[in-house]
Amino acid sequence: MNAVTTIEKTSANTDFFDRPYLLSIAGKLVDAEHSFDVINPATGKVLAQAPDASEEQLHEAIESAKTAFIGWSALGYEERQGYLERYADALQENRNDLVRLLTLEQGKPLETMAAPEVDQAIAYVRQIAKRRLPVEIVEDNDTHLVELHHVPLGVVGGITPWNFPVLLALWKVAPALITGNTFVLKPTEFTPLTALRFGEIAQEVLPAGVLSVVSGDKGLGPVLTGHPDIAKISFTGSTETGKHVIRAAADTVKRVTLELGGNDAAIVLPDAEYETIIPKLFWGAFGHQGQWCVGIKRLYVPRSIHEDFVEKFVAYARTVKVGNGLDPEVGVGPVQNRMQFEKLKGFLDDIKANGQNIVLGGEIDEDQSGYFFPITVVNDPSEDSKIVREEQFGPILPILVYDDVDDAVRRANDSIYGLGGSVWGRDTEAAVQVANRLEAGMVWVNEIHTQSVDIPFGGVKQSGLGTEQGDEGRKLFTNPKTVLIHK
Ligand code: NAD
Repeated sequence: MNAVTTIEKTSANTDFFDRPYLLSIAGKLVDAEHSFDVINPATGKVLAQAPDASEEQLHEAIESAKTAFIGWSALGYEERQGYLERYADALQENRNDLVRLLTLEQGKPLETMAAPEVDQAIAYVRQIAKRRLPVEIVEDNDTHLVELHHVPLGVVGGITPWNFPVLLALWKVAPALITGNTFVLKPTEFTPLTALRFGEIAQEVLPAGVLSVVSGDKGLGPVLTGHPDIAKISFTGSTETGKHVIRAAADTVKRVTLELGGNDAAIVLPDAEYETIIPKLFWGAFGHQGQWCVGIKRLYVPRSIHEDFVEKFVAYARTVKVGNGLDPEVGVGPVQNRMQFEKLKGFLDDIKANGQNIVLGGEIDEDQSGYFFPITVVNDPSEDSKIVREEQFGPILPILVYDDVDDAVRRANDSIYGLGGSVWGRDTEAAVQVANRLEAGMVWVNEIHTQSVDIPFGGVKQSGLGTEQGDEGRKLFTNPKTVLIHK
């Protein structure tokens, strides 16, 4: 298997970038018979090869997780906390390398996007280690004591996408482990390298089989979702794939948590101090190259300010540089993969074919080798256009005009999706009332994308099923078990 040889190293103490990427199965690092190319989206060139695990190797990982579950689930919370804290320490030691690798494989700007992602992920592991789901007393009377225990499920299978390869995976791993489950992670085929490295790091500190990381093509997904020894699938990805996951889970009545696509609306109210909030709105839409599930994907502004708003928004957008995420001047990196790049070109073709008003961007340099997509703003496209109805998941934003707030709310809710949303206005109480009317799992008022281990995160309608984070999310890694004791 080839290793990365061409990139500048950041660590003095390891061969982090030179050694091969290996699967972690049953506490061991193992190669696969075949490998596949991982592309650096900033260059369009091969960054490294990742192991393409066989079905048998995935079965081995599941088997080892099943065996490890016996001992791991029997440990108390305190002991598991100790393990997770040591894992967080080990990740911290590799922090700079993980950050750089994340930019190399994902494309996102190193300082402003990759570093916060890795830091947040490590902090989450550390914080979740301290969370508990204690036994609840449901009834305690003269004749009965009734207890509700939250017992681990068994082996959890995690399937992750390519937009936040570190954070979204550890969001699943940490709560699953602290509640007593063992875990088999299948990262996306587009960005498997950081996951393979944090899997490798886990083998130094966790008991064998507690966390396995198995990369391969997307054919491994159905093997995981169909396996009888997987008790739950924790999935983040597209709505289309999420539907396959539910179907596959039905045969063995697996638990599923699905974090799926979105088409989040941001509503700017007429009293908003829009000049001040434009940078927040811009980054809420274009941060991570527009590739975040809860990114602003439709921006509604009132007619009274529309013209000036668009002018100022575009002026701000022009100050942001698109380029290689390793360049500290760059605010928006490349789109993560060729498939997504082509999909975005499809949106652009549709916008142009329908004569919609592109006020910024829209022209792609076809000679470039990386997947750089210009920051593109479309002014007031029709409500039934592709760019408004579908999830673009990239740096194209429609700004839409509304005449009254009821109309904006109706249009915001007119979607198969219901992931997030945001409302922006000077009168907070009025803004909260609008937020309460949005059909979404998470709505921010005068801020966006605030998150913590204790804030439940999840979508409604076709944006998902179940929740991550918070006690609500952690409970979904357990079965409720009622114990009734006669006195
Ligand atoms: P995707 O659905 O194409 O792939 C996600 C994962 O599913 C990958 O690991 C892939 O290998 C695997 N997979 C593919 N087919 C499978 C199958 N039949 N069975 C099981 N697994 C299978 O999604 P993507 O393109 O990687 O990610 C982008 C999408 O993810 C966007 O729609 C975005 O909104 C969504 N997303 C949602 C959240 C959230 O929290 N709601 C977060 C990030 C991304």
